[in-house]
Amino acid sequence: MTSDRIEEIFYKSRDEQIALQNEGIRRMMSLCERGHPFYKKSFDEKGIDFSSIRTIEDLERVPLTSKKDYMVQPEDFVLKLPNGPLFEKVIYNMLYTTGTTTGKPTPFYNTAHDYYATLMISKRVARMVGLTPDDVIANTYPLTTVPHLTFFAAFWYATVTGARFVSTLTGTPNPEFPVTNSSRHAAKMVETAEATVLWGIPSFLRRLLTMAEEMNLDYHRVRLAAVAGEPCSQGLREDIVRRLKHLGSKDPYVNNRFGFTEISTVLVECDREGRGGFHNPAPDHFFLEVVDPETGKRVEDGKPGYMAVTHLNRRGTVLLRYLTGDIVVLSHDTCPSCGRQTTRVVSQPYRKSDLLKFKGTLINPEPLVRALSGMSGIEEFQVVFTRLNLGDPLSPDHLQIRVASGESRGEITRRVTDVCLQTVEMRPEIVFVRKDEIYDPDRGFKSKRVVDLRKREERG
Ligand SMILES: [Zn+2]
Repeated sequence: MTSDRIEEIFYKSRDEQIALQNEGIRRMMSLCERGHPFYKKSFDEKGIDFSSIRTIEDLERVPLTSKKDYMVQPEDFVLKLPNGPLFEKVIYNMLYTTGTTTGKPTPFYNTAHDYYATLMISKRVARMVGLTPDDVIANTYPLTTVPHLTFFAAFWYATVTGARFVSTLTGTPNPEFPVTNSSRHAAKMVETAEATVLWGIPSFLRRLLTMAEEMNLDYHRVRLAAVAGEPCSQGLREDIVRRLKHLGSKDPYVNNRFGFTEISTVLVECDREGRGGFHNPAPDHFFLEVVDPETGKRVEDGKPGYMAVTHLNRRGTVLLRYLTGDIVVLSHDTCPSCGRQTTRVVSQPYRKSDLLKFKGTLINPEPLVRALSGMSGIEEFQVVFTRLNLGDPLSPDHLQIRVASGESRGEITRRVTDVCLQTVEMRPEIVFVRKDEIYDPDRGFKSKRVVDLRKREERG
């Protein structure tokens, strides 16, 4: 077991970690009292004394911060410390939240202090994932018009590992600055660079691998696909492994990660099968809790609730009890797989916005998507919630599954229908289409697995 300064945190006892977190709480309360515009106002209005919040227990009295609170005036969440050292003041970079729920990307500011911390945490993650200086990391995250965490993070991991790095640079084209590559070019680059590690969004990586198969490329050096940016089901994981083996890789595996801008890192799996769940790589920097969003009360381990993040050692954007929108289950037990002591998310995160009303009941399409995403013989698919006659609001709800497949239509129809009956108890209409009609990797960053046409119509 490694226990140098980078990783020693994982081998401290639970009590020692709590002591460090309490220290972090006191540090951030003092900094917020000095110069956090939003919390100074909010604590003042609610009559909370910063100095009375001394432990993670006390933190339960601090009101939750919603995405909405943060979006109104993101600059009010940046510490203003006029007399502090330059290291803690200078804005080193900024990223934007993806804004999937709200559609509005929100800036998240990192000072030099925060960026150094991010690199240190990246080093921890890189070690947990087992990156080495012999690796060649192919970053397949796309270039986007607002800077997102994922595109930059692959570079951080390479940097702190001393690994080589290549960016395939697909993404949003700009006619004036023609720098982006096609996904076919990206597939070829992975071969040319002799990449050993692929970094990317699962649905994009899967398409890249499909393309590599069609192009008869040689990926025998690839040993690992590190994915984040959307949920990666067991089926999708197996599909990626199957395709990598087909491309010559001997014993590949998928490392699934759950990242978000507000921690500028990922919660990460520790083993090949993901048995230990998503580990918080920095319990000394981020306090994670699961809460009831109405009361702010903490929910016990093993029960689902809303994830809230509290920063313990930041100087740029600082958030306390910030609701990411994800519904998760936490565990504080020692990881049965790796023995590390840290908070783990032990469920597949999902959002309330994923639930939808269909045929009079609230359904969660996630199990259906999970089942379809690993089904062999399916190249792409899309679950479409619509009406028999979309133009008529009184027309009955109708479930359609769009499928791209080169296999027998009868067989695919039977299997897809079975999966729908098992997961959402509905018989779908199966529509066969070309895979680019569902997802064109040169136009989008990830596939849209669920479409609710009824909603689009309401929005008008
Ligand atoms: Zn573990």
